[in-house]
This record gives sequence, C-alpha cells and structure tokens, in this order.
Amino acid sequence: MRYPDLSEYRYPRLPRPIPSVLNVGWLDDGDYLHGEVPAHFLVKLAELISREPVNQMRHIDPCPICGEEGIRASNAGTELFLGTAEVWVPSPEGIHVYAAPDLVWHFVDQHGYLPPHGFVEAVMNVSTTSDWSGERLREVLVAELYRPLPKE
Ligand SMILES: [Zn+2]
Repeated sequence: MRYPDLSEYRYPRLPRPIPSVLNVGWLDDGDYLHGEVPAHFLVKLAELISREPVNQMRHIDPCPICGEEGIRASNAGTELFLGTAEVWVPSPEGIHVYAAPDLVWHFVDQHGYLPPHGFVEAVMNVSTTSDWSGERLREVLVAELYRPLPKE
C-alpha cells in the first residue's frame, strides 16, 4: 500500500483521512528518496517500535521492496519482528504525529530509504520513557471520525 510521504493518514476502512497524522514510509517499490540518517536514528526507532505496536494487524506484511517476510532484526539489544504494526511518533512541536509501518526500520537499514526530515527529527527528539501512547491517540482519533458531525 503506497501513500506519499507527509500525506494525511488514511486507512482503507476509515471514512476520512486524519489530517493531524502524517504518513511516512508507506513504500511499495524502489522509487523513494535515498540518503543517510543520523547515527543512532535506527537505535532510537527500534526502541519506539518495540515499545508500542500501533494498529497491530493479524497478518504479516512482507517487505514490498525485497519480498522478505517475517523480518526479524536486532538493534543495540532491541529485538524486532517487523511487518505487523505501525509506529507513531509525535512531532517535537506537538503539532502533528507521524505514522509509519514498522517496516520503515528495515527500509532505512537495508534499502537506504531517507524518511522526511521532520520524521527523523521527531524520532531523535521523542522521549522513549514518556507515557505518550500512539495507540491510545489512534483510538481517540478513529472514534472521532465516526462521531456524527454537528448540525448547522
Ligand atoms: Zn526489504
């Protein structure tokens, strides 16, 4: 499933996109920006992915670029099993939230994907010990989509 980087978050079953949540890393082939991320970016991202799976699915997505399935990885002592969930990261200014497939870790590590600068900044700046929960936020935002609009 491909969504352009920084487009509004949407999901096939959702009635509308969620404008405060921005897509990152929803790739479907090799057509994406390549580049270097800061040292420690993958360590931080691995911690976030293992700390809280968001929108966990019942199936495993293979990597759309190399086709590998059930990707396991370990990074600085963090064990990862990728392709089943998303990772949500709040922007440092608190204005919006980035939503990426957990496979984004593999895209950066193995395929040289360069995520948008804002996402890299957000990952580098987020506290891995705060009790902020992407899953809790997702539930609230999705519930809002189904609330009837106020009548004029
Ligand atoms: Zn791959």
